[in-house]
This record gives sequence, structure tokens and C-alpha cells, in this order.
Amino acid sequence: IYQMPSNDLRLMNMYAQHLQLAQERGEKPLPTPIALSLGEPHFQTPEHISGAAIKAIQHEEITYGPAAGWPWLKELIAEKIKRVNSYDITVDNTAITMGGTGAIQTALNAILEEGDEVLIPDPGWPQYNAQITCSGGIPVRYSLSPQHGWLPDIGQLESLVNPRTRMLIMNTPANPTGIVFPQNLIADLLNFALRYDLYLLSDECYDEIVFDGKHVSPATFLTPKEFEAGNVLCVYSFSKTYAMTGWRVGYIVASKEIIKTVTHVLDSDYTNISKIVQRAAAAALTGPQAYVDEMLAMYRAHRDLALSILQRTNHYAYTPGGSFYLLIDITPPGGLHAYSRDFAYDLLRERNVLVAPGTSFGQVTSKYVRISLTAPTEDIARGIEEICAFID
Ligand code: PLP
Repeated sequence: IYQMPSNDLRLMNMYAQHLQLAQERGEKPLPTPIALSLGEPHFQTPEHISGAAIKAIQHEEITYGPAAGWPWLKELIAEKIKRVNSYDITVDNTAITMGGTGAIQTALNAILEEGDEVLIPDPGWPQYNAQITCSGGIPVRYSLSPQHGWLPDIGQLESLVNPRTRMLIMNTPANPTGIVFPQNLIADLLNFALRYDLYLLSDECYDEIVFDGKHVSPATFLTPKEFEAGNVLCVYSFSKTYAMTGWRVGYIVASKEIIKTVTHVLDSDYTNISKIVQRAAAAALTGPQAYVDEMLAMYRAHRDLALSILQRTNHYAYTPGGSFYLLIDITPPGGLHAYSRDFAYDLLRERNVLVAPGTSFGQVTSKYVRISLTAPTEDIARGIEEICAFID
């Protein structure tokens, strides 16, 4: 029902520019590419969500609002944290932000001092690096290697800690690997952060996109009292769960003390997130949830389809447990040198398939490309066949 005819508006803009350029130069344009690059649901935001925003515009005063968000939305978030993430919070433990992106930047702005080091995953979401730098911090990468199941290694984290280390960022379900961390590792990461008195920023933007089992937040290992005393910040987003990427709404969950500082930062940086968007977010939480399961079922089917093609064609395959990404090793037969950015560029030119080069996410994935499972089924099938044939 929600499937859009085209899966990538930004690509369409790029493609429109390409068409114009080709026309100006008198060249034959490329056909529309198969886009497996962006981490964006290929579904339309459900109508009851858009409808709530329209109703707010028509019937409410769209004034300035509380910096950390309207209490009616924060109450619904507290209920969602209990229902989905299985821990207890109050309205004073959360602040509404401009998407997960805004949540992470605000948290960094609230906490970091000039020169503080922050441990970030490699491969990981590209913006961590830039956001930490914007906040005056220094990003320090830790490796998630395929030999280690794409999981963090506590020993390596310990070797990176020094007196300037202030925060650990962890992300599960993970971008770009699609790996869901096991529960005992999440507890170990929390204990590591507590042991070295670090802030733990847990990026849980894909918390509801898990194919087998359930996502576990590090906050579930703390009692409400420990959570209040601790340095754990959890970040969530409406973008992926509800196909609301363009609405820009997410939230931070942390101790009341941290949320107070976060609120000051929000107040000075943005004043508040639009009430229209907050009404839409409230409708997402209170409305029917069945379509969330339908989207999840489609991503799972796409994952299985991708794996079956990779296995049949003898290419590197592992089983991602969540988010909606998959990394493909592009090393050609004979172990020749492969470099993901060149590969992605040549793949687009020669096979008309768009992927995200592994180099966007760090050094560890320089011989990988990331595909997103959020495209029409026939594009996933054709795109992966083309990628495998191109590697060969
Ligand atoms: N964190 C991770 C790991 C992501 O992959 C993304 C988006 O792709 C975000 C945070 C931010 O998402 P948004 O700002 O749309 O909520």
C-alpha cells in the first residue's frame, strides 16, 4: 500500500541533473539507476500520521513550545520505552529532537568539552565523526571486523581508553553491518563504560527493525535509580520505524540531570521541534502498528532474497539480524585489489546500480559496499545479481 513508485528522491534529483547535463553536452543519458544506496524506507508515511499533522495546522495554534518537547508526546514516549524497550522512565527523562541526528548532536553538544575523545565504531554511521568534531571532541575509531562477527571487542576498547576519553558510542542494530549485538555484549559494553566512568551513548535508531528476537537497550541492565545516577544516553528515531525520515523527529532518553543540560542546548540551538511534527509523532505512537510489522516482514524477505543470491553466486554472505543493511565483499576472484569508492563509481557507470561505498563508514570496510534492503523487491534481486556479476 505504501510502496512508492520511486525509491529515492535525492537520487532522482541527482539523476535529473545528470539528464540535463547529458542534454547540454549532447550525450546519451544513463537509464534510471537501481538505487540500493540510501538508508531510507521505500514506503510512504502512513496517512493517519500525515493526517494528524494536517489537523494540527488547521486547528491548532502553532506557537513556540517547550524546548524538550510537548508533555503529551513525552508521555507517549515514556509508554513506548516501557512497551518496546522494557525499561521505566518519566517525562523528565526524555527530550524531543530533530531526528536521531539532532539527538546525537545535541547530546554531544551537552556533554563534550574541547579535546574530549569519543570512541566510535568503524564501520559506523558517517555523521558521528563530523558531529563529534563540531562539538570540539576528537573521534577515535574502534574496529568491528568481519573476523569478529562485526562486533566490538572489549579488549580493543580498553587499549584505546586514556584520561581524555569521555564517551563510548555504540550502535545496535547497526548501520552499516545490520548486526544485532547479543545481550551479553551489551551488558559488557555498559560495564566497560561504567568501569572507566565514560558516558555511554547508545544509538538505537533501528530498535524496532530486528528480524529475529528483540533489540536490548543497555538501559535495561540498570535500575531506575542506577539510570538516574549513571551516564547512559539512549537515542531513538521515528525515521526508520515509521517511514518518517523527512519529518525529522527523534528523542534522547537519559537521567533527569542530563536531560536538563540537553534542554538548555535545545533551547539555545533550536527553541523547539515543530508542534506539527510532534503531533504526527504522537499519531505514529498511538495509531495502528500493523504496518510497522508489514515493513519489517518486507525487509526480512529482502534480506533472505539477498542472501540466497549471494550464496548461489558464491559471494560473501553473513546474516544481518536487523536494521536494513548488508555489506558485500567486493574483492574480485584471485584476491586482486578492490577499492570500494572506485567500485561503486564503476558499478554505476557500467551496471547502473547505486550502492554506498564501504569507505563512507570507515577504514575496515574499504573492500565492501553497503546495500540497503529498502528498495522494491525486483530492484534488490536485479541489483545484487549485477553486483555479483560485476565483482566476477
Ligand atoms: N544513527 C544511525 C545509525 C543511522 O543510520 C541514522 C540514519 O541513517 C541516524 C542515526 C539518524 O537518523 P535520523 O536523523 O533520520 O533519525
